[in-house]
Amino acid sequence: MIVLKFGGSSVANAERIKHLARLIKERVLLDEELCIVFSAMGGVTDALILSASEAASGNEGYLSKAEEIRKKHLETVEGLLDSPAKEKVLAAVNQDFDVLFNLLKGVFLVQEASPRTMDYILSFGERNSVYIISAYFQSIGIPSAYVDARNLIKTNKDFGKAQVNFKLTNDLIRTHFKQHEESVQLVTGFIASDVGGLTTTLGRGGSDYTAAILAGALDATSLEIWTDVNGVLTSNPRVVKNAYTIAQLSYDEAMELSHFGAKVIYPPTIQPALSRSVPIYIRNTFNPGFKGTYIGKDIQRADRKTITGVTSISDISLLTLEGTGLIGKPGTAARLFNCLGVHKINVIMITQASSEHSICFAVMSKETKTATRVIEAEFAKEIENEQIKPVKAETDLSLIAVIGENMKKVPGVAGSLFKALGQNGINVVAIAQGSSELNISFAIRRSEEYKALNLVHDVFFLSENKRINVYLVGLGLIGSTLLRQIAEQYKTLLHDKHLDLKIVGIANSRKMLFDKSGIDPANWQKALDQHGVASSFEGILEAMKKLNLPNSVFVDCTANLEIRHIYPNILNQSISISTANKVAASSEYSFFVELKRLALRNNVKFLFETNVGAGLPVLSTLSGLVESGDHIQEIQAVISGSLSFIFNNYKAGRPFKELILKARELGYTEPDPRDDLSGQDIKRKIVILSRVAGYPLEANEVHVEPLLPQSCMEAKDIEAFFKELEKHEVYFGNLIENAERKGAKLRYLASLKNGKASINLVEVRADSPFFNLARTDNMIVFHTSRYQERPLIVQGPGAGSDVTAAGVFAEIIQLGSVIF
Ligand code: ADP
Ligand code: ASP
Ligand code: MG
Repeated sequence: MIVLKFGGSSVANAERIKHLARLIKERVLLDEELCIVFSAMGGVTDALILSASEAASGNEGYLSKAEEIRKKHLETVEGLLDSPAKEKVLAAVNQDFDVLFNLLKGVFLVQEASPRTMDYILSFGERNSVYIISAYFQSIGIPSAYVDARNLIKTNKDFGKAQVNFKLTNDLIRTHFKQHEESVQLVTGFIASDVGGLTTTLGRGGSDYTAAILAGALDATSLEIWTDVNGVLTSNPRVVKNAYTIAQLSYDEAMELSHFGAKVIYPPTIQPALSRSVPIYIRNTFNPGFKGTYIGKDIQRADRKTITGVTSISDISLLTLEGTGLIGKPGTAARLFNCLGVHKINVIMITQASSEHSICFAVMSKETKTATRVIEAEFAKEIENEQIKPVKAETDLSLIAVIGENMKKVPGVAGSLFKALGQNGINVVAIAQGSSELNISFAIRRSEEYKALNLVHDVFFLSENKRINVYLVGLGLIGSTLLRQIAEQYKTLLHDKHLDLKIVGIANSRKMLFDKSGIDPANWQKALDQHGVASSFEGILEAMKKLNLPNSVFVDCTANLEIRHIYPNILNQSISISTANKVAASSEYSFFVELKRLALRNNVKFLFETNVGAGLPVLSTLSGLVESGDHIQEIQAVISGSLSFIFNNYKAGRPFKELILKARELGYTEPDPRDDLSGQDIKRKIVILSRVAGYPLEANEVHVEPLLPQSCMEAKDIEAFFKELEKHEVYFGNLIENAERKGAKLRYLASLKNGKASINLVEVRADSPFFNLARTDNMIVFHTSRYQERPLIVQGPGAGSDVTAAGVFAEIIQLGSVIF
């Protein structure tokens, strides 16, 4: 005998039922001996609860809710059957719903739905779905019979979640099946009855359990649970997109996973199967060709992963009982858990510090009040004598459980788990590890649940993809180039480095768009146009906070002067920063230090490599020297691409103005060339270089020798500026002629010496490394204790959107290797 169970989504409508009937028919033709359990049609149990609770609160809306349920069933009959069977079934279903309507009316009148009434009301779901399915099976020639599980499964009177009397039940099941060997028995899931015949239920999701009870009683060769996902996955696929099917699970692991939130199996299901060693298969009705998950003995794991799955239970509370009265008093814990047990309050997790001064445990949120009340009643005397404090309750928490048999005796699992949580700013409120070492559970704020599940999943399922979430602000030349580069490289990164680089937010000064499932970097413009909303710094911060994604980086490709003010907040959200914007790192020294401190405290990075020399490895080289103990004696640098171009091309006889116009035309200068020629940009860069070199320099301490006469700087617009420049051709002409006469060239050089920075127009001769600079090249020359005789030189194109974007891109990838 094989017992199969089909869940709510597998029987959600006529089409789904036809689909599963085809699967069954094939197997009947193979002469398989089957018993099939069905749930109520998808959503019906919830709808019944809703309708009944509206009725109980005197709300007439219950009627339309119930009418919808009836309609759903009648439509399904219409879709499945032809006359005359159709009319017969329609009439029977209608009649049954009349009973339900009367019942609901009663609830409405007395404004009360007791657990006993509720169980009866809920039974309409399973009874009608199976009744309809059995009529359909018979109409297509599957020899089958409708079985009301209330005649087979006997329980106590714990309505809502009744306890099974296995002795009675097993006997009834075996007798029934002996008498009905000829046809496929179609059994209502979830419902049962007490010995007196009152309807009970086995708890939400209990159809799985019905199937397991049958499988156990009948010593089935296997139990197949058919649902809407590819088996038991490494985590809930609705929350963790990277989750994948676990091919094999031990009974113990399956039990832990289901107890700690893997809704795909109802927790009590495992026990009856385990006690008879019935193997369980979890299969997908929507993907019947797929093997799914096998749960049983002698499992074999191809991969040697330490962790099997990560689950969560949302909405729990942590209660703490604390006081000197607990120390060294045997029996206190027993009293505590006994009084909770008497009131049927399920304790999900327990921790006790070795000082015995407090006991902390988790219950479902909805039970917080009752739990507090019953404990305070139990310990009333001790509380009055101040030996024990009143119960402390922390609400709005979630429990995450990391589960796996291979975890046993493997050191470091908890270490890497809590390190990752810490790095992502997730505070752990309580921790428990069972001595079986099968499970580490911990409580966190509920708002962090999504983030924690995804993070923990990424940490432990290393061979799968590691995801980095990117927020990109600034979609001009550099930002859009970066997006293009990411689009081009995405597949390679995923394939070769298992790095899943997701753009989860983009913004410019007008619009912003956030999407945790990712924005296509090849089509971002369209997405932003269509779905973007008005952008603001507050909006960006708020959206990132709301998404609360792990392993995130904020990329600043703007030239905005104010955006730096949101950096502290970003770092405090445990989001790293990679910025091409020089403003933050070159603003007040105290602010720069604060950013570094916040990054350190929050275990994230504040990166700004592209601030000097764009994609060239300037700052990383410099900090590498400093961190390894070298001393920086002097830095000389040409660090402006535009000024490099201008002076590399300046020759006696060539009008200076014409050269500037040319640079501007080639896009090497800002629209107003004075932004480059003023030395402001170079100043920022030498400040940053100095700081990385270990000197706490402020921007106003940099001595700048102006390149342009004052009148040029003061000209009211660009046109006036060029006019003014013409008047100074003689001045510039003299400078270059003088230099050439000495065999020298002109360079606008930034330097740092003895902790002092300056920017000067200098003449360099053939023996200087700066003599042969070409095009828009940058050159940074480091004289250090180690590089004394011959300096260390970094040279190359130091401007342009391609190389700058590539520099930022490299930084993001580098973050990937730091985070994981
Ligand atoms: P059914 O109606 O078939 O009984 P359920 O809704 O009770 O289906 O259970 C299946 C659902 O369980 C999936 O759709 C999924 O959202 C959820 N789920 C939670 N954790 C897991 C997990 N680890 N693996 C698979 N599914 C899970
Ligand atoms: N229909 C019941 C529920 O929704 C039982 C089940 O589907 O397993 O809880
Ligand atoms: Mg279920």
